[in-house]
Amino acid sequence: MFQKSGFADACSEIEEADFVVLGLPFDSTTSFRSGSRDGPDAIRLASYNFESYDCYYDVDLSDLRICDLGNMELGSDPLYARESIREGLSAVGDDQLLIALGGEHSITPPLVEHQAKSGPLSVLVLDAHLDLREEYGFTRFSHACTSRRILEVPHLCGYSSIGIRSGSREEFAYAREMDLSYFTAEVVRNKGIDYVLDLVSEELKCERIYLSLDMDFLDPTYAPAVGNPEPFGMTPWVYRRILERLGKRIVALDITEVAPAYDRGETALMAAKLAREFIAVHSK
Ligand code: MN
Ligand code: MN
Repeated sequence: MFQKSGFADACSEIEEADFVVLGLPFDSTTSFRSGSRDGPDAIRLASYNFESYDCYYDVDLSDLRICDLGNMELGSDPLYARESIREGLSAVGDDQLLIALGGEHSITPPLVEHQAKSGPLSVLVLDAHLDLREEYGFTRFSHACTSRRILEVPHLCGYSSIGIRSGSREEFAYAREMDLSYFTAEVVRNKGIDYVLDLVSEELKCERIYLSLDMDFLDPTYAPAVGNPEPFGMTPWVYRRILERLGKRIVALDITEVAPAYDRGETALMAAKLAREFIAVHSK
């Protein structure tokens, strides 16, 4: 009855689920290494590595109501993919916690739009890159434009990003000009994530937060198989602390940019674990 290939412990039907996993296998605007369309299935497979019991949060994920809707058909045209995501999200209820598995980071703006429709929303992006380009590779919907498009979503009440260590000179100028909130990897290392989260909390003014995790937020040591690996990155402990501080306010999470062909499974394992941490923190 249930796909064996679904996310581990995702045994519920959509009507009864508290958590909904959705695969978005789209990667055609990738600027360096493509292959994140294979991310959702690699992350699902890797999720079977872990015990259903999470000893850190003292919760058994098999006791929770998790549904895996499978993958959406997104084709290769970014506009078509964007529209398809918008339509497909109607299957997910307002009170269900969404875990979207990418795919490249360009899948995020329609997800943010959808969440913003059901109430005031702040956005936190975890990324090595600013993603503030107006256009890249002849499209405004490239993964290099993700944060720029997020900022255009109407009625957002707050945006911040953490882990930044790459961008064009123009993107950094734009961020300063617009007075955007972003925290570099150096600030996290030198001042600590709790210092950063105190400032982030002032920016994210709504109770509901959308969390977008571009896996290149992590150092390539922890997540080598991503589209654009960037050294001097974050550790998974930083992510855990973010969840501990803000987790209960997060209404949707996406995990993007896992391109499984570029390692021996470590990055998909990490992504699966970080998705499971999100589920676990919500069950407490
Ligand atoms: Mn990104
Ligand atoms: Mn990135």
